[in-house]
This record gives sequence, C-alpha cells and structure tokens, in this order.
Amino acid sequence: MPEELNPFIIAQEQLDEAAEIMRLDSTAHQILREPMRSLTVNIPVRMDDGSVKLFKGFRVQYNTARGPAKGGIRFHPQETIDTVKALSAWMTWKTALADIPFGGGKGGVICDTKKMSDSELEALSRGYIRALGNYIGPDIDVPAPDVYTTPQIMAWMMDEYGAMHQTNNPFSTITGKPLEVWGSEGRSDSTAMGGMFVMREAAKTLGIDLKNARIAVQGAGNAGMFAYTLSKQLFGAKVVAISDSKGGIYDDEGIDMDKLIKAKSNPGQIPSYEGGTKITNEQLLESEVDILIPSAIESQITAKNADKINAKLLLELANGPVTPDADKILQERGVFDVPDFLVNSGGVIGSYFEWVQNREGYYWTREDVYDRLNTIITRSYKQMMETMKEYESNGKRIAPRMAAYIIAIKRVAAAMKMRGWY
Ligand code: NAP
Repeated sequence: MPEELNPFIIAQEQLDEAAEIMRLDSTAHQILREPMRSLTVNIPVRMDDGSVKLFKGFRVQYNTARGPAKGGIRFHPQETIDTVKALSAWMTWKTALADIPFGGGKGGVICDTKKMSDSELEALSRGYIRALGNYIGPDIDVPAPDVYTTPQIMAWMMDEYGAMHQTNNPFSTITGKPLEVWGSEGRSDSTAMGGMFVMREAAKTLGIDLKNARIAVQGAGNAGMFAYTLSKQLFGAKVVAISDSKGGIYDDEGIDMDKLIKAKSNPGQIPSYEGGTKITNEQLLESEVDILIPSAIESQITAKNADKINAKLLLELANGPVTPDADKILQERGVFDVPDFLVNSGGVIGSYFEWVQNREGYYWTREDVYDRLNTIITRSYKQMMETMKEYESNGKRIAPRMAAYIIAIKRVAAAMKMRGWY
C-alpha cells in the first residue's frame, strides 16, 4: 500500500490511534475527527500591472470547546484545505497540551509570496481579512503568522480588522504583530525558544551533553534560524548542517553565523554559503548528528527515509514533519521523537502572552515572557513523560506523541463533556 501523505488523514490516524489506547468515548471521538467550521474564500487582488488576480484562502476553526480558535495563517503555493484542516487539528492538541485557554484553528492562502510585491501582499492580506473579518476576533478566533507570513502582514491584517469593526483597539485580534503595534517582547523567537527548553529536558532524559552535541536543522525561516542561533547561544551546541527550500550545507566545524546570514540575505539561499559541503534536504535529514530539528514543512520523514535517520533525538519544530509510517519505524529503531505540538508550542504560548497583554494593556519584559514560557513548556514535557511512565507501568509502551495526544484529548473531551456537547 502506498504511504498516506495527506496531512489531514495523518492527523485523523494519529487521533484514532490515541483514542484506541485511551478508550475515548466514541461520540467524543466522532466530534474530534472533523473541524467544527471550515471556510473557503476567494480574494480578488489588483496586481501592480493593473490586472486582477483571484486568490483562494481558507480558515478552519477545528475545535473551540476550551476557548477561541487559535492558529497561524500560511501563504504557500501548495496550500490545500486538507493541510489547513490538519494544522488546525494539531493546534487544538497544542493549546490543550499547553493548557492555555484556546481551541485550535488555522488559515492559509494559495499564493507565492516570492513572486509578489509588498503592495500586492498588503492587498491580499487586507482582502483575506475583509472576507473573514466577521468570523475572527479576540473571543472568536485569533490568527497569527506561520509559513511565509510575517509580523508586517499581521499588522496589515489587524489594521483592516480595526477599520472593518470601527475600533481603535483591534490589537488582541491577531498575534505575532510588530512591537510598534503591541506585539509581545520575545514573540519572534518564542517558537524556537520553547523548542530549546524542550531540547534541554529531552537531552536530560537521553543523557546527551548539549555542549558537545551535533545538530542538523532543516529550514532556515523563523523557526529554523532561531533554532540555529539559540542552540549555539544557550548551550554552546554545534549546528553542523542547515538547509532551506533550495538545499543545504554541511560543515563539520559548525555552520558559521556570518556566512549563513550572508547566504540568506537579499533574499539569498543556503546553497550560496561559502565553504562547507553542499547537501540536499534528504542528505541533511540523514546526517550523522545527535539531534535533528526539522523546521520547514510537513511529511519530510516518511517510510522511505525513516530507517536512515541517524539522530538519537528528533525535535519536531515544524508541524507534521514525520508521517505515521515513519513514526513506527523511528520508534522501533529507538529514536526519541518529541512531537510537534509540544516542541513548537512556544509559538502559541508566546501568542497567548501577547493576547493577554493586549487585553490588559500592560506589557511584560522579555525575561518575563521567557520565564513564563519555560514554566509552561517544561510542565508539558514532564506531563508527557509521566503519562508514558504511567502506561509503561501498566504494561503498555507508548511513544511520546501518543502520550501528548492522550493528555490533550482528555482535556478537550472533558471541556466538551462539561459543556454538554456529548
Ligand atoms: P518560514 O519563516 O516561512 O520558513 C520556512 C523555511 O522552510 C524556509 O527556510 C524555507 O526555505 C524552508 N522550506 C520551505 N519548503 C521547503 C522544502 N520543501 N524543503 C526544505 N525547506 C523548505 O516558516 P516558519 O515560521 O519558520 O515555519 C516553519 C515550520 O515551523 C512550519 O511547519 C510551521 O508550521 C512551524 N511553526 C512555526 C511557528 C512560528 O512561530 N513561526 C510556530 C509553530 C510552528 P526558503 O528560505 O528557501 O524559502
């Protein structure tokens, strides 16, 4: 049988597996297999050459039993409704595992930002909000940035929402905003910072000495670039390989920061890095390292390459980088694979802090943000490990992903039960 790569089917399969292990009520299971609300919009945009182009966009509110939907918006040429549905399901588990007062949502627009000017991007961002502005809001659904969307795009979207709703206080509608319009200190690197706190805990579990660890990072965007710099800054670890959509670079001595910044600027690509050895994304994933941090897109580690992964610790900073078939192979081979909705939850936890600050109108320091993030994400890691131990003591070995799923599903199902949904 060919391996299933549709992210939404993968998300449903993961839920089904957890539901069976935890003997989830069948009605709760049925509700949790599908999104509560799924919207498709078509956005006409006047392009710089005077023509009008129609862009298709999506917003999915997967489950709101624990609070407003929360999740990013992607601008990606290969975006599909199924990718957005999967990501919104993972957001539901992510907010529940972190135990913050949100449900899960996600958005996306099919477009190629690399071929669009700033004015075209602004028009598209504003058009997306005009189409969806009655379905989002601080108490309904709170979007944020994701792949190929930026703080500037969030600022345009927030401004459009303010104009639509005639409010001068639209700030808590969207997170991941620039600091000038009340973004949060520490939000820009909160995803990677959270990933680093998880890496610290997982290294303790596995007995990896981070000072001497060798790391490979796939992806050099917001998540990957900060994972690169923070691994070095916080732990003195050596990142020996990094890649982007055009390919990667391997340097046994460690990737040099100045050369990396030079390679990625204006807008450059990793293969132009001076020195090291050019590698493909496939080779990067198979590097001889202690820790592998996929930080790009979904379905990168599949049944085809799972037996070639050499890392002891796999930290899923990207969403959905490992398919269920690969999951099983990694587990059999003893690779400790920490799931996406724990590893990258620093992003939504940082967004939660931004929303709290916007609602209160009182702003915290960067240190406050990191301290609180550390507390929440370390607690989640420990709860995941305790759940694994609990099952093991009852004679059933479960993977970290399943343990995290069980905690999250229990919380969402309990909220639905209390609210009388089943
Ligand atoms: P981003 O800033 O847009 O960067 C994406 C990176 O992935 C870029 O370096 C891009 O290459 C690379 N890439 C794209 N397609 C690729 C491919 N086929 N093979 C290898 N690399 C590829 O996005 P991001 O915010 O870092 O997000 C990355 C992952 O983290 C996503 O799964 C996202 O959902 C997840 N995540 C992000 C956040 C956040 O706060 N940013 C929070 C939670 C989860 P180019 O540089 O060549 O374009």
